[in-house]
Amino acid sequence: MGHRVTLIPGDGTGPELTEATRRVLEATGVAFDWDVRQAGVDVMDEAGTPLPEETLASVRENGVALKGPITTPIGTGFRSVNVALRHELELYACLRPCKTYPGVRSRYENVDLVIVRENTEDLYAGIEYEAGSEEAEKVIAMLNGLQAKQIAGWSGISVKPISHAASERIIRFAFEYARENGRREVAGVTKANIMKFTDGLFLDVFREVAKDYPDVEAREVLVDAVCMGLVQRPEEFDVLVLPNLYGDIVSDLTAGLVGGLGVAPGANIGTHAAVFEATHGSAPKYKGQNRVNPTAMILSGKLMLEHLGEREAAKRLEDAVATVIAEGRSVTYDLKPTRDDPTAVGTSEYADAIIAELAR
Ligand code: NAD
Repeated sequence: MGHRVTLIPGDGTGPELTEATRRVLEATGVAFDWDVRQAGVDVMDEAGTPLPEETLASVRENGVALKGPITTPIGTGFRSVNVALRHELELYACLRPCKTYPGVRSRYENVDLVIVRENTEDLYAGIEYEAGSEEAEKVIAMLNGLQAKQIAGWSGISVKPISHAASERIIRFAFEYARENGRREVAGVTKANIMKFTDGLFLDVFREVAKDYPDVEAREVLVDAVCMGLVQRPEEFDVLVLPNLYGDIVSDLTAGLVGGLGVAPGANIGTHAAVFEATHGSAPKYKGQNRVNPTAMILSGKLMLEHLGEREAAKRLEDAVATVIAEGRSVTYDLKPTRDDPTAVGTSEYADAIIAELAR
């Protein structure tokens, strides 16, 4: 019996990317028992929701899902399926490895870092008060009564909660990840010199947790300095753990360092479930054209293999992807020197080239 995994093809270009990834994963020789479930705009009419309960139940039961991108319907009242999945399954850790592969156009070489982003709190907790609203004025009046520093009327307010428990959970996750994956260092990224009680707490917890991992170096860095350091010497970074907002911004920066969305894999991981998916969206304008680059999704599949304990297969898969990209022959348009290169192949032919490489 193979690994039971929920497979969510998604919408837009999701189904073609997922199919390419499924074929490549099976070509590693690892056995899977796919539990295919639907989500996204294509099932909304029939199911009455973009995230059917049975899909959620399947991920809960199997504990592992491979997911294609899903469009966020605008103006329908439905919230993003991606956000809902993270929330419902409490996927508190967002993992985004960023690595340069020769053949992918990038300004840098030898980048191999991993962003670990806290997914549940911080300014993303969704606690906001609109300027001029009764609630905002109440909050402002209450806060103005507590301190000398006064907040101006007609201010919008966003609340930044950072808890000890959530900080400990994500920081421990980062150190465990570093240890399991033979990483040298974890950098704790904050602005603790300014936000003493939120980022300051995160940093205190970072120092506490680091003591339990004497085999992994712990580095404390400020988020502004990290941005400059990443642009100047990205090869010096290893694992970075960040609160939600900084993690969101810095992970896009690091994806840019290594060649952009087409090659940026990701995973959202919780205590009971893990969902593996590319960083990019559903690229709906290319839907059904067999054109987009499945590398990000295939490398998300490689992360899933590691999560399932199939490390040897994960390594072979990554090597095969790297070889096909380095050869530069059977690659999608975005990996060619110019976007209108007539020798570019489609999504499915690129997957075939990786499968052929795995068979060698
Ligand atoms: P997008 O990532 O779909 O596209 C941004 C740009 O990158 C487009 O030019 C697109 O053509 C290109 N691109 C993306 N993936 C590519 C690939 N694999 N190969 C080649 N080119 C690629 O972002 P968007 O247009 O802002 O979003 C489209 C939809 O996807 C929105 O509804 C958004 O909410 C959703 N989205 C979903 C997820 C997810 O499922 N996790 C993530 C981000 C956005």
